[in-house]
Amino acid sequence: MTGPSVVDVIRAAEGSNDGLNAFVSLADPQDVAAAEAEAEGSVLEGRAVGVKDNLATLALPTTCASMILDGYHSPFEATVVRRLRGAGGVVVGKTNMDEFGMGSSTENSAYGATRNPHDRTRVPGGSSGGSAAAVAAGYVSMALGSDTGGSVRQPAALCGVVGIKPTYGRVSRYGLVAFASSLDQVGTFGRTVDDAATLLAVVSGHDVRDATSAERPPLDISDVVGGRGPCDLQGLTVGVPLEYFPEHLDAEIRGLTEAAVNQLRSAGARIREVTLPNTDLAVPCYYVLAPAEASSNLARFDGVRFGRRTPGGSVSEMYEATRGHGLGPEVKRRIMLGTFVLSAGYYDAYYGAAQRIRAAIQADFERVFADGVDLLFTPTTPSTAFPVGAKVENPLEMYLEDIFTTPASLAGIPGMSVPIGRTGGLPVGGQLLAPWWEEVRMIRAAHVLESAVGRA
Ligand code: GLN
Repeated sequence: MTGPSVVDVIRAAEGSNDGLNAFVSLADPQDVAAAEAEAEGSVLEGRAVGVKDNLATLALPTTCASMILDGYHSPFEATVVRRLRGAGGVVVGKTNMDEFGMGSSTENSAYGATRNPHDRTRVPGGSSGGSAAAVAAGYVSMALGSDTGGSVRQPAALCGVVGIKPTYGRVSRYGLVAFASSLDQVGTFGRTVDDAATLLAVVSGHDVRDATSAERPPLDISDVVGGRGPCDLQGLTVGVPLEYFPEHLDAEIRGLTEAAVNQLRSAGARIREVTLPNTDLAVPCYYVLAPAEASSNLARFDGVRFGRRTPGGSVSEMYEATRGHGLGPEVKRRIMLGTFVLSAGYYDAYYGAAQRIRAAIQADFERVFADGVDLLFTPTTPSTAFPVGAKVENPLEMYLEDIFTTPASLAGIPGMSVPIGRTGGLPVGGQLLAPWWEEVRMIRAAHVLESAVGRA
């Protein structure tokens, strides 16, 4: 390899005044060159990949953008990272995120907010905002993220790139720092549908180290990438759920989504209006279940086994000081919320009710898919990228960002965001949802949108 390393290019761009702050650590350029040389003839051919900082890597720290893990080095590597390196992908850096994945703007990072490459006064979305911004800025053509309630799809939409959240169980969570284990899935970003799909195929498949990973072979995309496969949607029925088009939906987003529906129709899909009546319960349900699981998962960060310790007198004072200093305000809010909904006397009213709502949301999807709907199409987000700082004082408003992405997470079905145009210079994403394990069908429809609308 000659010329400057991709790492040097990123460092130079990020070091300038208008850096995006997309990365929290960068690889050693010599390691990158060696990995590139070794990757000749492989599937990913030495391509540069960004990895969200909640995925364990050996060469670089894994911090989850939290002070409590500042400088932390994992003794093992996440399965997805091992697989991507095995396929000739080169990890060029760890990407910025909302602390432990909690947020929709990448402002909740101990290392400062990431900016949107389309407008640096705006957020890239979150929590995988660093990965989405790195792809949108052209630093890398693909990146890994994680999606618990929308953290791949929402930043993909706001940054104008492709983001895929696979079916729960499609990809191993081994080495993904747990936020809400029943919802967390590793997902992929790409400049193109093929890039995001190729990376997903590489990291997917059963892993004995994760009991929730399904006993299935890696995703086979050979029929749908590289221009192969049908470019029409003959024989497919695409459902358009009424609840995703509320009266107050931004008019431009509505218009672009409807235009994309017409593209799907022109490609041969039958379009059918459907209803998913429990959709508006998804955000309250998610914001009970995810914090409940987080409160338990994050109990391990106590300053004893790993991570940063803040000294205190007694053991409990040490815990308090460590967690008090090491965790940010949104993480503390979630832990308190989660502890409350799980506490005796409130458990059934909150956690139990949320579990029942989750089952009802899943049943909504089961019903439409059993009724002959092959795919669903919706807007990915209710708004385009908002200004940095606009929602930090109002957590509820921030949570409502997730209104269109949380239902699929609660049901465990695959979803992806594809650019469908722009408004006011900012990208808009359309969301495709498929039945469990039908990622390939979703990717096929994504290609139609990609060629019809072009890259945002
Ligand atoms: N924005 C959601 C949250 O704050 C989703 C985050 C995610 O998917 N990791 O919890």
